[in-house]
Amino acid sequence: MKRSILLLFLLLVLMACQKSIPEFDKNRAFSFLEEQCNLGPRYPGSDEIELCRNYITSSLSKFGFTIEEQKFEVMIDEKEVEGVNIIAHFNPRMSRRILLGAHYDTRPWADKEEDETLHNTPIIGANDAGSGVAVLLEIASIISKKEPKQFGIDFVFFDLEDMGSYGNNESWCLGSTYFAENYSKAKPEKAVIIDMIGDADLSINLDYYSYHNSPNLVNEVWNIAEELGFSVFKSRIQNIIYDDHYPLIKAGFNAILIIDFEYPYWHTLEDTQDKCSPESLYYVGQTVLNLIYKEE
Ligand SMILES: [Zn+2]
Repeated sequence: MKRSILLLFLLLVLMACQKSIPEFDKNRAFSFLEEQCNLGPRYPGSDEIELCRNYITSSLSKFGFTIEEQKFEVMIDEKEVEGVNIIAHFNPRMSRRILLGAHYDTRPWADKEEDETLHNTPIIGANDAGSGVAVLLEIASIISKKEPKQFGIDFVFFDLEDMGSYGNNESWCLGSTYFAENYSKAKPEKAVIIDMIGDADLSINLDYYSYHNSPNLVNEVWNIAEELGFSVFKSRIQNIIYDDHYPLIKAGFNAILIIDFEYPYWHTLEDTQDKCSPESLYYVGQTVLNLIYKEE
């Protein structure tokens, strides 16, 4: 009898010592994606992007974050466009930091539609950009309840990623370019940008710039995914993608991009929530959570 009580006690101690990495709530994350879609197309200059900004900032304030709005102006087609990056710091005094980023603007033109008459119609952008924002908001909600012990976290919601012209790299990612060029603090240890990871048929290949610049961080993240049994992460370099990680890399950040660029509804009116799934958000969200909490 005594021995079994002792064994039970040891078992309990062992369980308490085990790492407890919080579970990513895929359904709540998916509701963050749906809520953005319900606002309508959220392109720069629209009333809806303003609503989306309010949605992001009010969600973050609910989770207890203080928010900084980084405003900037750019010229697009000889017109002045105002952009706003939304930045929130968790545990700002911690020296070891992870930056998590995603863009929140949607493309004003469905210019990958076959029917040219639809090219000037704005897209809903469930996957591009709703999915990245949804994952970041769920992670923000989780860390507000369970403070990471090793890292402070910086969330950046970039504006004006998606108003570029094909073949002209510098016309894309204007929010992250402004952010990176005006960054004066010590750089975070790791920066992870996520975009277009909501596809129900998810397959995440390696991006060349990420692997070339930050091979250790790529390996760390992809190994975590492998340990979790997430076979949607593939170790094939398939794409060279100019996304919000690129301006960060150029400014000296240890930055990588997690993206599934094989999305048939990219920049079409069919980039809607029925093409996305909670599971896809989970694979990426849980991997990033493990990156944040794995050293505890
Ligand atoms: Zn896009």
